[in-house]
Amino acid sequence: MQNKMERISIKDAKNKIGETVKLAGWVDVRRDHGKLIFVDLRDASAKVQMVVTPDKKEIHKTVETIRPEWVIEIEGKVNKRPEKMINLDLLLGEIEIEVEKINILNSAKTPPFEIETDGYDVDEEIRLKYRYLDLRRERLQKNLRVRHEAIKFIRDYLSSQNFIEVETPLLTKSTPEGARDFVVPSRLQPGKFYALPQAPQQYKQLLMASGIEKYFQIAKCLRDEDTRGDRQPEFTQLDLEMSFVEKEDILKLNEQLIIDLVKKIMPSKKIQAMPFPRLSYKEAMEKYDTDRPDLRDNKNDSDMLAFCWIIDFPMFKKTDKGEWTFTHNPFSASRKEDQQKLLNKKDIDKIIAEQYDLILNGFEIGGGSIRNHQSKLLKSTLEIIGLSDKNIKENFNHMLEAFEYGAPPHGGIAFGIDRFIAILQNEPNIREVIAFPKTGDARDLMMSAPSEISKEQLKELGLEIKKKK
Ligand code: ASP
Repeated sequence: MQNKMERISIKDAKNKIGETVKLAGWVDVRRDHGKLIFVDLRDASAKVQMVVTPDKKEIHKTVETIRPEWVIEIEGKVNKRPEKMINLDLLLGEIEIEVEKINILNSAKTPPFEIETDGYDVDEEIRLKYRYLDLRRERLQKNLRVRHEAIKFIRDYLSSQNFIEVETPLLTKSTPEGARDFVVPSRLQPGKFYALPQAPQQYKQLLMASGIEKYFQIAKCLRDEDTRGDRQPEFTQLDLEMSFVEKEDILKLNEQLIIDLVKKIMPSKKIQAMPFPRLSYKEAMEKYDTDRPDLRDNKNDSDMLAFCWIIDFPMFKKTDKGEWTFTHNPFSASRKEDQQKLLNKKDIDKIIAEQYDLILNGFEIGGGSIRNHQSKLLKSTLEIIGLSDKNIKENFNHMLEAFEYGAPPHGGIAFGIDRFIAILQNEPNIREVIAFPKTGDARDLMMSAPSEISKEQLKELGLEIKKKK
């Protein structure tokens, strides 16, 4: 019995000149030249031109009916294209497939927009509603692939340095990162709510108290922010924490990770300065009037990456109401020389945090700090920002207590993966590198989320919706 022919990826047809292969994918475009019909076939790996000659009557008839985005399977011979038809702009521009068998796997309605373009000019609401079609675009396929490669690189790199990836819960309790929490009602504990994590901050610190020493996670973070610039209510961070380290260790490790990643994944990019320049918050504000300076010498060079670290941030700032709040993260430690100020709650405006941000081409792509690993220091911070004893007990007791059972000194950082990939891919916004992003006002147009829930669900949860007046 003859073996069933195995499907190969279109890109592998390149090395099969003279052989018969089986391919499957989507019809990209069909060009009908009367006698000859050309069809571009596309799969996840590449595109190839197929040709149907008039002597293959049955196939010719079938191919006349097929339209863009139909799903087909074919068998055909891989031929070298005639010299004058070679197109070196295409990956497979030197070959074409002479179709010998065709099988239609599914038909397709006419898509609401063109797929073979880059899609920038298509109304974004329509792109997001039909995201599964939008993602068929070569540009977006590439973005998701680069994103995968970057994340794989990070996982391999950190694993080789003895980090382990640990998953932390999504159903948890509020952890302040300066935004609002998304909350989830509890059915089993009526009237109570989980908060979705704004970041795995407390868990990663508790993992240090657990003796893990080197943790990372490709983590989803959820923040219920007002529509503000290019933000998403859920986004992905590389979240990382280490024990027995100082600021210098964390900066060094992460700088090398980024440099190696860019060299491996994006060899066409140039890093303007290595080691990355470091500026204190004060210097940055004085010189550039921003703590996210764009240091590129030539801002029109789309391959230029100008990183810089901003360090020595003030630990606290005043709110509009004149109260103290943390500038970055309530868990950050002060510089050693400012510890007494923190404990005595004196000269609060002069306390400098062991906090660092990584800026790339004017965007903040990462930030982190050395943490307070002693209860009294964390408690003092929480008191300075005006939390009552009751509030501290209810919300932070687990941290204060954990630090009393031998927590090692520790610190960490988190990188915004979406922003970093968007910059590497020269994309104007992070939605272009997220498979299923939400609109600026946090709707998923494809799934129609958020949506109402049934009366029964509300009752089970002990919730009632008040009509807006
Ligand atoms: N939790 C911080 C953030 O999400 C990062 C860190 O301090 O590690 O921005």
